[in-house]
Formats: sequence, structure tokens, C-alpha cells
Amino acid sequence: MGGAGLEHHQSSEDGTSPKYFTDWDKTAAGRDLLSHEYTHSWNGKFRRPADLWTANFNVPMRDSLLWVYEGQTQYWGYVLAARSGLMTRQQTLDAIALTAATYDHRVGRSWRPLEDTTNDPIIASRRPLSWLSWQRSEDYYSEGELIWLDADTLIRELSGGKRSLDDFARAFFGVNDGSYVTDTYTFDDVVAALNAVQPYDWATFLHSRLEGHGPGAPLDGLARGGYRLIYNNVQSEYLASAEARRKTTDLSFSLGLTIGKDGVISDVAWDGPAFKAGLAAQTQIVAVNGETYDPDLLKGAIKTASTTPSVIELLVKDNDQFRTVRIAYHDGLRYPHLERTSGSPARLEDILAPRG
Ligand SMILES: [Zn+2]
Repeated sequence: MGGAGLEHHQSSEDGTSPKYFTDWDKTAAGRDLLSHEYTHSWNGKFRRPADLWTANFNVPMRDSLLWVYEGQTQYWGYVLAARSGLMTRQQTLDAIALTAATYDHRVGRSWRPLEDTTNDPIIASRRPLSWLSWQRSEDYYSEGELIWLDADTLIRELSGGKRSLDDFARAFFGVNDGSYVTDTYTFDDVVAALNAVQPYDWATFLHSRLEGHGPGAPLDGLARGGYRLIYNNVQSEYLASAEARRKTTDLSFSLGLTIGKDGVISDVAWDGPAFKAGLAAQTQIVAVNGETYDPDLLKGAIKTASTTPSVIELLVKDNDQFRTVRIAYHDGLRYPHLERTSGSPARLEDILAPRG
């Protein structure tokens, strides 16, 4: 079985790992699959961006509104997973923390706005990309999720808790119930539907987030939701399950690299400590401070270097060439979490709670 999710109007195609149900506690990462593809029946198959709906396959499709098609579906995928009990509240908060941290570190934002990433399916066709943090990829999925969290919490704030993105979804997707005829929309239709729920300058709100250059990801939705993004040396259970699923060691927010099987580096964060030390993807880490590499040994070395002046010394191998790389990194292991801010309404908890 392939690990695919494919939307259809009436029945989505959901492929996942054989132990999806029996290893329930260890497979939280990817648990949004069913709720994501289910949402697509409305957001994507029934209501579809006008430039994606072409008369025949000789007319090129354009993807300018994928931050609605996929971005808002990504948002509902997590929200509905939490509301339905597929994910616990804590797992969902940890998943959002990982997304927020990942996109907050996307330095490619300085040259490439989010909206431009909607061209990726056309120009990259999901082939592997090097230097992900600099090139960016199909970022409209998960950064789109952050924008819709931003919008949802803003509607809740402006309406005094009376309205939310649920009202937008009902009005925008819940039309012509039972119809199988695709109903297309434009950017202006999205803005008009948001305005009908809560009057606001939604065009400027969306343009600034889609066309902006940061710095950092749009995280206002976290603050308005009553949380802030923090880092500490404890890995959440969710992040551990994400690592296990991808068979990687994720040190993105500390050394600035991700390591796959046999110590082979799978990704290096642009401008991070590993990058500055001259490391790149496909290089194999053979030894850490003179001992044979294993993930826990490297994590231990990062911990030690956070309390001592010692550098982390890696013996690495590129094809037949060995070399020693020294990384002067002293900020310890850094894993993302959401921390509740005192004195602010817990709107994010309201969003994730089952509807009465
Ligand atoms: Zn999707």
C-alpha cells in the first residue's frame, strides 16, 4: 500500500502504514490524513479555484489559490482531527508547534513570497529539492494552515467569540448541497465570503501574508489563540512519532540539519550552524567526537556543548573523501512547543474542542 492521500468528490483514497491502527500511540504524525482528504470533498472537489478548473487537459491549469484549496484543508485536517478525537489536543498543539517552527525558519521567504510557491507543482512536479529552507517547496499547504489559524482567531476576536472560520466554511463550501457540479471561485469571492462573516480588510490581510517577505512565519494566530512558540530540549511525543515515520533524526532547530539512515544527512538548513560549517545533504556522518555515529551520541554531544566550551567534532564522508568538521554550537537541543500565555483567551483550545 502506498502512503498516499488522494481526494475525490465522494470517497477519498487514503493509504497509510500497515500499523496505523495497531500502533495508534506511535502514529500521531500523519493522523490528519482522513480529516484532510475528507475536507477536500468540499474544499477542492466541489468548490475549486477558477484557474484550476479547465475545459480539458490541453488547457494548462493555474494554481494561484492553492493556499485555499490545500492551505485551508491542511488547517481543517488538524482541527477536525482534534475535534473528532483522531488526535489529542496535546498532539495537535505539538503538530502546530512543529509547523510554526518549520516555517518560522524558512529563510527562503526573503526572496520568495508564499504565493509564488503555488507554482511549485508546475515547475518542480514533486521531484526532490535541495536546500528546502532556501528554495521553499509546496509551502502553501502548511504556511497556508498558519494563515487560516490567523484568520480564524481574528474573526473570533473581532466578533467577540460569536463567529469563526466555521461560519466561513458553512457559507462558502456548504452551498448547493448534494450538487456534484464543481463550483469555482476567485480571490475576490474568498474576500467577499470572509467579509460576510466578519467585516474587515481581508484583501490586505491576505495580500500581506501571501506576498510578504517576513521576517518569520505568520504566527499572529498563535498569540491570538493564547499561545506562543517556545523551544526546549525535550522532544514532544508528536515530534518523536514524526521522526519515526520519516526514519530521520531531526535537529533542524539546533544544528540545522536532518539525518537519515546510516548517518547520511538528508537536509541542511540554509545559513544554520551545520551550513556554516560546510555541511550539505548526502554527506555521511561517520563519527561524533571520535566515536562511531549514532543519533543519541550526537544528541548527547549537543547537550554537552551547551554547558561547556567544547566544539562538536564530526568525521564526515563525501564519496571516498573523509574530513573533520568542527561546529561551535552551544545552544543545546531545541525542540518546538506551544506554551500557554497567561491572561489571554485560549481561542486555540476553543477551536480544537469538539463542537457541542
Ligand atoms: Zn490536500
